[in-house]
Amino acid sequence: MTTEPIHVIGGGLAGSEAAWQAAQAGVPVILHEMRPVRGTDAHKTDSLAELVCSNSFRSDDAETNAVGLLHAEMRLAGSLIMACGDAHQVPAGGALAVDRDGFSAAVTAKLEAHPLISIAREEVPGLPPAEWDKAIIATGPLTAPSLAQAIAEATGADALAFFDAIAPIVHFDTIDMGTCWFQSRYDKVGPGGTGKDYINCPMDKAQYEAFVQALLDGQKTEFKEWEGTPYFDGCLPIEVMAERGVETLRHGPMKPMGLTNAHNPTVKAYAVVQLRQDNALGTLYNMVGFQTKLKHGEQVRIFRMIPGLENAEFARLGGLHRNTYINSPTLLDGSLQLKSRPGLRFAGQITGCEGYVESAAIGLLAGRFAAAERLGRAPSLPPVTTAFGALLNHITGGHIVSDDEPGKRSFQPMNVNFGLFPPLEAGTNLRPEGFEGRFRGKDKSIARKKAMTGRALTDCRTWLGLNAAAQAAE
Ligand SMILES: Cc1cc2nc3c(=O)[nH]c(=O)nc-3n(C[C@H](O)[C@H](O)[C@H](O)COP(=O)(O)OP(=O)(O)OC[C@H]3O[C@@H](n4cnc5c(N)ncnc54)[C@H](O)[C@@H]3O)c2cc1C
Repeated sequence: MTTEPIHVIGGGLAGSEAAWQAAQAGVPVILHEMRPVRGTDAHKTDSLAELVCSNSFRSDDAETNAVGLLHAEMRLAGSLIMACGDAHQVPAGGALAVDRDGFSAAVTAKLEAHPLISIAREEVPGLPPAEWDKAIIATGPLTAPSLAQAIAEATGADALAFFDAIAPIVHFDTIDMGTCWFQSRYDKVGPGGTGKDYINCPMDKAQYEAFVQALLDGQKTEFKEWEGTPYFDGCLPIEVMAERGVETLRHGPMKPMGLTNAHNPTVKAYAVVQLRQDNALGTLYNMVGFQTKLKHGEQVRIFRMIPGLENAEFARLGGLHRNTYINSPTLLDGSLQLKSRPGLRFAGQITGCEGYVESAAIGLLAGRFAAAERLGRAPSLPPVTTAFGALLNHITGGHIVSDDEPGKRSFQPMNVNFGLFPPLEAGTNLRPEGFEGRFRGKDKSIARKKAMTGRALTDCRTWLGLNAAAQAAE
């Protein structure tokens, strides 16, 4: 009996990995890639899995870094992207950087040589036709316009964004709650709220003016010529607001009205920075209205001037880019399937993950899920304690949608980070054997990360059936 193929649209990081995973599971794949018939503004070659900018897959430290952990899990899952990355590694300290041409050529050769994969060099101009009953759209941040238009028509115009407007996200446990306090403006409860939904960071006049000056002086990144300048109402970068006058921010995202400092009720703050819960776990908070084009190093330096954020660790820094991505938490089910059209999945950056490795990881999952269904099995979802599961969970439901800013998109692209993982079980012993003295600060943070990555790798092996296979071999 011949198995019907899965159609993968887009041969980038996600589509290449999805095609590989499905084919390795024994399912035929037709991979549709529009290059070289039609190019994008960023791709320069006709190779599959082209790296459009940096040649780095970031940290390869699987013990204390979330993206390093994702590398390790992808290797366990037989990732083509990781195998070709490892084979074409170039020296880069603790990071995994690759020879970009060697890497992409290797991915292309492996996919071309696979007996179950055919590659069609063509643009798919609209949603897959009905007869493609299992398909994965992995067309990335620069999805060709006619397909993007078709996706917008199918999902609703508000559900597809063409630019991101990313505000920084802070790990809750690095915010000084001795300085900040929980309160919603005017104690409004709102839908699903408590009246204490925001974390507030107070500033006096001198602190505010120094902060505005730092925003003006801070180094910014420029838009690429083809990106245009995507400013629209409600999404101006904070430094652009600061340029409009020293008082502008105090009447915008930093307004102090309706807020009383719980630590110092008689003194009115001159300005207030608000952070709002970002994920259901309550481990991450985003800085409301703080989308920015400041360089990443500058963001860390300047945002740590904010009282209460002096020691903040950032899960994500701000940015504004040309990007195409859907409102996944609303549109997709837990296995990346469009709720309104079962059998059609999305993968890669278009789902709202960010980065080469994350895009490939989501491609890996989509390929496995689609192949399982084609073979008559239910998709097996990775546990949320793994990097795969934490990222998938964030995209498909872990992010909290804000009700109090109608018209604004609160779901913004995200790299994998420890804030997406469920906290360790209460009572987990983090203290390494034989550790003497006070156990806190950096030592404790490293130990916590090691416990999380250890838990993740164990659970990932179980999910992939590798523990059972190892036991059977013993
Ligand atoms: C300018 C720029 C710079 C970036 N720099 C970095 C960086 O330094 N580091 C990092 O980690 N991430 C970076 N990113 C993000 C990066 O694009 C993604 O991380 C990653 O490439 C996304 O993988 P993907 O498979 O989702 O999309 P892509 O890798 O872009 O692959 C999508 C593929 O789909 C094809 N396609 C599009 N529409 C169609 C269609 N209708 N029919 C058929 N094929 C189609 C495209 O030609 C492309 O090959 C950058 C993004 C951009 C736009």
